[in-house]
Amino acid sequence: MSFNSLILIWFDAGNRNLPWRGQTDPYKTWISEIILQQTRVAQGRDYYIRFCNAFPTVKALAEADEQQVLKLWQGLGYYSRARNLHHSARFIMNEMKGVFPNNFKDLLQLKGVGPYTAAAIASIAFNEVVPAIDGNAFRVLARYFDIEHDISASNTFRYFFELGHQIIDSKRPGDFNQAVMELGATVCLPVNPKCEICPLNESCAALSLNKIHCLPVKTKKTKVKTRRLNFFVITDGLNYLMVKRTADDIWKNLYSFPLTEDKIKSIETTVFGESGIEFSEVHHVTHLLTHRKLEIKFLRGVCTSSQLKQISEKLKAVIYSREDLFVLPVPKPIEKYLKDKI
Ligand code: SF4
Repeated sequence: MSFNSLILIWFDAGNRNLPWRGQTDPYKTWISEIILQQTRVAQGRDYYIRFCNAFPTVKALAEADEQQVLKLWQGLGYYSRARNLHHSARFIMNEMKGVFPNNFKDLLQLKGVGPYTAAAIASIAFNEVVPAIDGNAFRVLARYFDIEHDISASNTFRYFFELGHQIIDSKRPGDFNQAVMELGATVCLPVNPKCEICPLNESCAALSLNKIHCLPVKTKKTKVKTRRLNFFVITDGLNYLMVKRTADDIWKNLYSFPLTEDKIKSIETTVFGESGIEFSEVHHVTHLLTHRKLEIKFLRGVCTSSQLKQISEKLKAVIYSREDLFVLPVPKPIEKYLKDKI
């Protein structure tokens, strides 16, 4: 039996019951695919439900306030995904006359939608015969067909995309793509794949050649850099200072306590030096992002209300009451700090 038949029979026999399955609304497929780009299914499921309840249509998302969108995304990470969804919803309403793009090529016009996501939406929602090649597909195809192309090389995508075109089921392209993703996510795992229960195990090249652990080939390793952030939790006992992060950096458009990177002294001496505020309480946290390790210190300082006002002007920070802090979209380490310490 062909790859295509084997994987579809397996998919039909018992794919996971997920809230985005069994529907072909392109808007909802788009939301689910963006959420799942960097997130596990177990975590993404609740976010998907909350997001679709809050913004059931592309129009509702376009009309939402960015702060509301980011707040719903809070804790999921990679906030550019939420900003891009919001931006693209407005683009569809304003530039595409409110009509959701209905093919692979047009879907690529949406910010944050690359070839994988465009193919997933086009095949699932519009039955377009186009393969969705992501990390799961790279792994399944590289192992099944014994392909040694380096998946970190820029031209390798095209090779797999063309292979995908040759093997995709032309009648059920959406199910085919979902079946490959599902197999990669649940059976053909990066480490310790479950070959004994895999529907492809009788014809898988990597299994018969004993090459599972060499495939797919990836030569470029992602370097993890460490950043040291110091958050200054400045309060008069009732109110706190927060800044909106507007630079092109992690957590763009979310809110944080005023911060410095690496050198605590610079802000302490220039801003707080003359005020006499002492930062006594220090709380340390390590937070991991895919390419970054964040070593975070929270330094708490108490001051008078008039000092708080003066400092807010110097730092261009905004004064928020304790209750209002919980309404702001904030990065995960701050969300946790607010819950545990404020
Ligand atoms: S047999 Fe093993 S290596 Fe081959 S596709 Fe299945 S899970 Fe992956």
